[in-house]
Amino acid sequence: MLKVYRGELLHFLADPAKVALEDSYQYLEDGLLIIKDGLVEQVGEAAELLATLDKNVEVTHYKNGLMMPGFIDTHVHYPQTEMIASYGEQLLEWLENYTFPFERQFSDFEHGKSVAEFFLTQLLEAGTTTALVFGTVHKESVEAFFTVAQQKKLRMICGKVLMDQNCPDYLSDTAQSGYDDSKALIEKWHNTDRLQYAITPRFAPTCSTEQLNKAGQLLSENPTVYLHTHLSENKAEIAWVKDLFPDSDGYLDVYDKSQLLGRRSIFAHGVHLHDSECQRLGETDSAIAFCPSSNLFLGSGCFNLKQAEEFDVNVGFGSDIGAGTTFSMLSTINEGYKTQQLRGDKLTPFKSFYLATLGGAISLDLEGTIGNFTKGAEADFIVLDYHATPLMDRRMRHCTNLSEKLFILSMLGDERHVKATHIMGELV
Ligand SMILES: [Zn+2]
Repeated sequence: MLKVYRGELLHFLADPAKVALEDSYQYLEDGLLIIKDGLVEQVGEAAELLATLDKNVEVTHYKNGLMMPGFIDTHVHYPQTEMIASYGEQLLEWLENYTFPFERQFSDFEHGKSVAEFFLTQLLEAGTTTALVFGTVHKESVEAFFTVAQQKKLRMICGKVLMDQNCPDYLSDTAQSGYDDSKALIEKWHNTDRLQYAITPRFAPTCSTEQLNKAGQLLSENPTVYLHTHLSENKAEIAWVKDLFPDSDGYLDVYDKSQLLGRRSIFAHGVHLHDSECQRLGETDSAIAFCPSSNLFLGSGCFNLKQAEEFDVNVGFGSDIGAGTTFSMLSTINEGYKTQQLRGDKLTPFKSFYLATLGGAISLDLEGTIGNFTKGAEADFIVLDYHATPLMDRRMRHCTNLSEKLFILSMLGDERHVKATHIMGELV
């Protein structure tokens, strides 16, 4: 069945930092997006394409808005939804004082389902249509998440946390039970409808070498599954990893020694990476989730985007709820811009919207499936509203070009500016 949407339209074709700017995106002031059975069939000028359509086809016209692919959140913790905005600590104390007690509740499937329902509703309201999501150590947390995501027909990636040391007993698994539970979840859920599985060691300090090696084994047995963990977020954390793994040549090397790097490996943060680590991430096609809101909130530091570009590392944006303080990718871009200003670097509006869409898709090895309007891609898309708030409305009157429009959307925008979210072509 055909679904047709008309309006201003933008999507990315390549990284604006790698090709000529005009080759990195397609922008149509009056465009048409034609969707067939939930997949993108064609994109082009409305004036040309309308003439080719059957007279009876209904066209939804979005005026005063910008149609673009749904945002992609490459790092977020759904069980931390209700502990967002917890005061006063940096990473290690924050985990101990707030996170672990909250995650304990997710042994209960029904609790997980109710939080997953709320979490996914928040994501969709913010215009985020795909996310790479942490569960808790309990397999029930992932069962609950996938159950709700499946009902909503979403493309989501999630995994059970692995942690067998330096954590409370009530949140601890073992190398073997973590392997067994993950394996059972992969068999049940990976590639079921639009759901995919991520092997999810919490981070090096909470995982024994045996557990990391088991994770590597599981990954080699299931090469289309993801690997999702944290890396070099905070200086005290990095020093701790050095103490715990004295034989490793740095933080990333702990994961590397267990064969955890690769095309479907996503490392959250990477705020304090050495050039050699960035080089290794680049040559293994691994990705970094850039989580500026969280990095500022926990005082972790400012991610070096320029360094990642230099070593050709795939990068996407992550909200990192509950250390991040917003579900909104527009607000996340806002924070990202400011972290680069603090470094003396520029994050251009084109690059930020690229990172939030196609950049995220490439980081997740889902280019061609989501992230832009290439033919055959799943038609998850949003409509941003330039006039949802009086301040943005007023500011837009002085706006002269697309770059400025995008910048204003990201500096003044949030959930209020997401007018509509569509999943596989359907308004939700
Ligand atoms: Zn995180």
